[in-house]
Amino acid sequence: MAVFGTCGHSTITYMNRQVLIAGGGVAGMAASLAAMRAGWHATVFERAPAFSEVGAGVQLGPNVTRILQAWGLGDALQQVAAFPSGLHARSLTTGEVLATLPLTDALQTYGAPYVTIHRADLHGLLLQAAAHAGVQVHSDAVVQRTHLSPDAVQLEVMQHGQLQHHTSAAAVAADGVWSPLRQQLLGDGLPHFTGHIAYRALVAQQALPVHLRSHDVQVWMGSQAHVVCYPVRGGEYLNVVCLAEGRLLDDDAHNLQALQTWNAQKSEAQTLSELHHALRGACAPLVDLMAACSDWRLWPLCGRPAMTGAHQHAQGRMALVGDAAHPMLPYLAQGAGMAIEDAADLALQLNQATAADVPQRLQQFAQARWQRNARVQARAVRNGQIFHATGPMRVGRDMGLRLMGAKLMDVPWLYGYQRS
Ligand code: FAD
Repeated sequence: MAVFGTCGHSTITYMNRQVLIAGGGVAGMAASLAAMRAGWHATVFERAPAFSEVGAGVQLGPNVTRILQAWGLGDALQQVAAFPSGLHARSLTTGEVLATLPLTDALQTYGAPYVTIHRADLHGLLLQAAAHAGVQVHSDAVVQRTHLSPDAVQLEVMQHGQLQHHTSAAAVAADGVWSPLRQQLLGDGLPHFTGHIAYRALVAQQALPVHLRSHDVQVWMGSQAHVVCYPVRGGEYLNVVCLAEGRLLDDDAHNLQALQTWNAQKSEAQTLSELHHALRGACAPLVDLMAACSDWRLWPLCGRPAMTGAHQHAQGRMALVGDAAHPMLPYLAQGAGMAIEDAADLALQLNQATAADVPQRLQQFAQARWQRNARVQARAVRNGQIFHATGPMRVGRDMGLRLMGAKLMDVPWLYGYQRS
């Protein structure tokens, strides 16, 4: 690495096989770890001044835990995740279990477990493994722009108020759904508000009456809304999320700051009235569960249309991964999962890449990934329509689940994915 300083700017040029990563979320940390394992050095720039415990639960299917195990994170996962034995699809109004997908079968069928985990725990274990592998992580480092040339890629980074230029052979945009780098590289504008809002709460199981505690994944499907809950933190807490088709206040729908949040809060009374409206007609146990939760956080779901081509995954010497490339609605529980799959597939290419052939290798990465990510994005949208079906569609959905059960809920093409 060579460092040159001029008038408060510094220019840092890295040697061969160095990848620069914009964004230190799940996608960025996974990509950094995977790159190190592929024999590259990795430097991550994260705009947040510190990594905090933000977020709530995420689900990880066997397609994802298989990768984490291959990276040597199986034991760490065991410590912090929960291992639900089933996913129960219920009617929101009657509470009837319409179908159950036995999740313990995942180990036998797909060779890896189905887990539920707090986002901060998943992020923490990736961060720790990356630090252990030697990844350089810079916080309070905002990546402002990128400059691509045939021979190198440069990131303009504002760190602690100082402008730096970092140049290397390869870079990764892992800067999330609002990715400034995507906007610069693809020029396809900002994501749109989907009209769906997630209301999230985390509640200690011990604080719940026994009949409301759960170590499984429960999904209550209603009309234009559903509720999902599952254990996190080794089962100590229950993550409860109500996803509702709603409206933001007109001001908020056009207010970027209001949309770019995972953690908005309204007054308790306002939130409860919105939840009450979204879940009208809900069965008594569900009403009790919602009433037992407090400190609700709101997350307006924003997205983009499904990917349309490999160009959205790679441009020259820069790959786009995670939500920057393919924001996911949470209805297939694969947002973090596809970010981790991206990292694993990127590493397959980096493993064989020299500094000179990075653009071709990233093209191969993009070709290998974009259709799968597009398919997952589209399936997540479709799941949302099914979860929120109204009228005759809703009757058909419930009947289908009663008749077909687990067959309708299992997704072999997703969970059984093997990279070539
Ligand atoms: P993100 O997780 O959004 O990470 C992107 C990272 O890039 C962020 O750390 C951001 O600060 C950083 N960044 C953005 N711009 C720049 C820049 N210019 N320079 C440097 N860094 C930049 N999903 C759930 O399913 N449930 C949750 O409860 C949940 N909570 C979340 C809470 C937070 C605070 C965030 C950021 C995401 C959350 N997600 C949650 C989303 C989930 O983590 C992602 O959908 C998925 O993991 C893909 O991750 P990603 O790394 O692509 O994007």
